[in-house]
Amino acid sequence: MYDYLIVGSGLFGAVFARQATDAGKKVLVIDKRPNIAGNVYTEKIEGIHVHKYGAHIFHTNMEHVWNYVNKFATFNRFTNSPVANYKGELYSLPFNMYTFNKMWGVVTPEEAAAKIEEQKKEAGITEPKNLEEQAISLVGTDIYEKLIKGYTQKQWGRPCTELPAFIIKRLPVRLTFDNNYFNALYQGIPVGGYTKMVENMLDGIEVRLNTDYLENKAELDALADKVIYTGPIDAYYDFKLGTLEYRSVRFENEILDKPNFQGNAAVNYTDAETPWTRIIEHKWFEFGKDDEGNDIPKTIISREYSSEWKPGDEPYYPVNDEKNGKLYEQYKELADKEEKVRFGGRLGEYKYYDMDAVIDSALKFAEKEL
Ligand SMILES: Cc1cc2nc3c(=O)[nH]c(=O)nc-3n(C[C@H](O)[C@H](O)[C@H](O)COP(=O)(O)OP(=O)(O)OC[C@H]3O[C@@H](n4cnc5c(N)ncnc54)[C@H](O)[C@@H]3O)c2cc1C
Repeated sequence: MYDYLIVGSGLFGAVFARQATDAGKKVLVIDKRPNIAGNVYTEKIEGIHVHKYGAHIFHTNMEHVWNYVNKFATFNRFTNSPVANYKGELYSLPFNMYTFNKMWGVVTPEEAAAKIEEQKKEAGITEPKNLEEQAISLVGTDIYEKLIKGYTQKQWGRPCTELPAFIIKRLPVRLTFDNNYFNALYQGIPVGGYTKMVENMLDGIEVRLNTDYLENKAELDALADKVIYTGPIDAYYDFKLGTLEYRSVRFENEILDKPNFQGNAAVNYTDAETPWTRIIEHKWFEFGKDDEGNDIPKTIISREYSSEWKPGDEPYYPVNDEKNGKLYEQYKELADKEEKVRFGGRLGEYKYYDMDAVIDSALKFAEKEL
């Protein structure tokens, strides 16, 4: 009945479905969730597009990907400029002249550079033995103590002295007043939310939600010549070689009866005592900032907590260590032998993909496959 059964309506599945349909193939997209769009799903609550599976900011240097997504959405000019809150002191991120001015009162780039050098020298670290020493040797003590130490400790659930130095290879320091977090040529958030963008990608394509492929495999396989599977690769093989691990995040959402909670989309809490790592205020992802945002009398915030992942939890970030890498390779060997099924996307390839990278990967895959 179908040329392709596409398991998963996230970006990989939706892009492949669009390309295959445009190439004249008949496709069916299924998803076990009650909604399309996978992890970029946004839900409109109180007039605000809430990023349900974590804040998503589109940024890319790939012109073809930028042109592609612009066929399905208009992007606003959102620029990611997070703020750090250290015990009530606010600092601009990533580290830039605003940060250094606030930290030390320095005014010129020379003064900021000299201050960092002075602190690095004072610490006298030549061969960093752990993350703490590595960070201090890169940016000095003050920035480490106020902006790195507590946040990193919360993220990894361990003190920085017990984390390996290699986690931080470099720490970008900007001696300019540029607080644009990403170094990408193109950046923004789709107007109307990501769900709308994926809906446009899937325009005219048959989609069945609340349909778990693995629970109805034989029946669903019989519907199509080929299967594009974007779910977890270990789940496909019923975890027979073992379970791939993920790093997890827990979100606590709250609707507040005020138009403006923190005045910025992302505020990182960099002290060790505050239990959450950051607070996202979703309305500030939308273009219009103050005027339009304040027209909506309510606001929605998400507190993010690092949490230990256990099998059955939502898989977020693949753990790129040796153990999981080896296990993935074993699953991939099995996957490569499949005749009818192809694996793609962040779960199918057990790989952290930014949105632009997963779109690029789906486009390349479609080009080869079709
Ligand atoms: C917390 C977080 C924040 C992020 N922020 C950014 C950001 O700011 N910028 C950026 O560029 N990228 C960001 N990303 C990356 C982005 O989320 C991914 O690039 C993108 O979601 C990958 O799409 P995908 O289609 O591969 O996977 P997914 O979106 O996970 O889609 C897979 C789909 O398959 C479905 N599925 C799985 N198993 C089955 C089954 N058995 N039957 C039926 N359906 C099934 C799932 O329900 C899901 O809908 C972030 C990722 C995380 C985890």
